[in-house]
This record gives sequence, structure tokens and C-alpha cells, in this order.
Amino acid sequence: MLEVGGFTPLSTTDWPGQLAAVVFVQGCPWRCHYCHNVDLQPRGGGQPEGWPLALATLQRRQGLLDGVVFSGGEPTLDPALPEAIEAVRSLGFKVGLHTAGIYPDRLEQVLPLIDWVGFDIKANFADYEGITAMPRSGLPAQRSLHAVLQAVQHQGLGLEVRTTYHPQLHDDEQLLTLASTLVRLGIPRWVVQQFRPAHVSHAALAASWLPPSAALWQRLRDTGMDLALR
Ligand code: SF4
Repeated sequence: MLEVGGFTPLSTTDWPGQLAAVVFVQGCPWRCHYCHNVDLQPRGGGQPEGWPLALATLQRRQGLLDGVVFSGGEPTLDPALPEAIEAVRSLGFKVGLHTAGIYPDRLEQVLPLIDWVGFDIKANFADYEGITAMPRSGLPAQRSLHAVLQAVQHQGLGLEVRTTYHPQLHDDEQLLTLASTLVRLGIPRWVVQQFRPAHVSHAALAASWLPPSAALWQRLRDTGMDLALR
């Protein structure tokens, strides 16, 4: 059974343009310095009846929501994710997925079942460890993004690529390189998310965050990327 750490019955922000419920899957192997869902990191810390209760709520909300987003944590960690997606689809909901691409094989397994992905890119693939505290973590993320882009092309999968920005974790040149990489990969739009200091375990980061400067923003635009700041 899917291990659920939280459930939001109605969100207008987790899947842009859609009214969606959000299922927060428990567990993530990475330890991103800016993670604001640290309670969702440990596997085994979920709510005992989380999934049956979420499913019961969704049954009552049929026709009132556009879709359901599986978020986390890292939802592809959970071997019960495909079954949970099927259950949600059978209720008539569209399905969205938030992922950092940690498990490319599992992601590829569920891509045919979903309608939209919010893909979290941490940094240039070579720089991932500086954010995730996990060696070589950029490799699975790169494979996963490739699989997602294939699904966008062949399956019509919806995609939003986003990156959380903190000036101590991304210098200007790294961010510019990432923007150029995304343009080269054919990603038309990139959401730069502002760091959210609430619930972050690293006090120094919480005290020192800033949005991208106007000069950096212009240089990012000059790469040809369509940017949004959230
Ligand atoms: S991948 Fe997401 S859930 Fe996992 S530690 Fe990083 S920010 Fe937190």
C-alpha cells in the first residue's frame, strides 16, 4: 500500500491551471539543503491509514476536481505508486506527478499512466551533490529528464521544469549554464522557484536567501529561455 505522509484535498497551485488534490508520498533518499518537507524524508514515517483515507476522500470528490498530483518526498520511491495511480485514474481523475527523477526506471514505468509532470531540476547535472548531499545524484536525474522529454514528444505529456534558487547554492554562471542546457534540450519554459525559508533545517540558508538579481534575470532571459519566477 502507498505510504502517505500527507494529503491536501484541494490545491490550485500544485498543478498549474488545474484543481487538484495532492498526495504526499512518504520517503526520499536525498537530503537537499533547502528541503522544506524534511518530515517526508524518512521512509516508515507515514500515516497508517493515509492512502485509504485519501482514496475515500477522492471517491467523494469525483467530478469536483480535475486531477490528483502525487508529490513527496519522492513518489517514485514507493513500489505501490503504479497501483495507486491506476486507482486514481479509475475514478476518472487526471494524474500529475512531482519528481526529482531519482529513480529513472520506476519513472519510465509510470510515465504512460500520467498526464503531467512537474520536474524538479536541482542544478547542472554535474553539480547535484552540492544540493542533494548525494554523490552522483545528477546521473539518475539526467536519465529521468531524458525519459520525460521522450514522453512529451511521443505521448503528449505535459511538463513543467522548475529549479529552486538560492544564491549560496547556485552561482550566476552555474545558473546560466543550466539555462543554456535546458534551451538546448528543447525545454521552452523554466520556472525559477524562490527559496522558501519556512521549515528548512539549515538556518544559515534560511537567513541568507535572495531572489535572482535583475541583472542575472536579464542574462538568463538572454539565453532564449522563457522564464517565470514563482
Ligand atoms: S528531492 Fe525533494 S523531497 Fe527529497 S530531499 Fe530534495 S527537496 Fe526534499
